Amino acid sequence: MKNPARPLRRADFPEAAGILVWALVGGLAWAIAIALALLAGCTVNRLAPAEGFPKLEERVHVLSGKETRDICAPYVPAFWRALGGIPYGCMRVELCEGTCDVWISEHSPGGLAHELEHCRGYDHWFESTMADALAGARRICPERLP
Ligand SMILES: [Zn+2]
Repeated sequence: MKNPARPLRRADFPEAAGILVWALVGGLAWAIAIALALLAGCTVNRLAPAEGFPKLEERVHVLSGKETRDICAPYVPAFWRALGGIPYGCMRVELCEGTCDVWISEHSPGGLAHELEHCRGYDHWFESTMADALAGARRICPERLP
């Protein structure tokens, strides 16, 4: 990460190789987030990681609430924004580079374990984001991901 304080843009994420997954959505949307937990957003992860998911270098960045929002907010889905959703953390894997960055608010240390599970290949229930990213990265850098 060249400058973790710079807000990330979609262009920072090479298609398929770089993904960002939401950890927690808070603020006014919190109660609704729980209600919708099985439908969308960051919830409980699966019991096993994506098959063959590599071990990545995990880099945790603990930030103030504002810094976390600045970095993660552009990736809050529109419907969460409309509900007042505030990100407490997010993560990004670069499978071809072998790294996983987690940005987490100092006010939400509980979200760190969840984000680190994503770094280790765990998807949310009913989602296959990490597995799909691994499949995409295997096409982009097969020498790194046999
Ligand atoms: Zn999550």
